[in-house]
Amino acid sequence: MGPLTVFCPNSRRPVASGIETDWATILRLGRATVRVVCPECGENHDLPISDGYVARMEIDPDAPVLSPSQRLERLFSLAQSALRRSLPSHRM
Ligand SMILES: [Zn+2]
Repeated sequence: MGPLTVFCPNSRRPVASGIETDWATILRLGRATVRVVCPECGENHDLPISDGYVARMEIDPDAPVLSPSQRLERLFSLAQSALRRSLPSHRM
């Protein structure tokens, strides 16, 4: 679990959604959106949850700084493993 962060479509800056979630939930929610009152531009945004990311504690703060694309790859692999872990409990 971690705070879901989305991105302001106007400023492209990260905005905390106030929602605590995890990757498995995000992937399950699919096209759901979250409404945020944006501190960056002052507008309300309805943003797809799947466009946001969850700040993960297990990302080593001492790890070398990653480029945005490297970070996305890392987050995607975390999402995949989180989903894989969640699957057995949902099997009928
Ligand atoms: Zn905004």
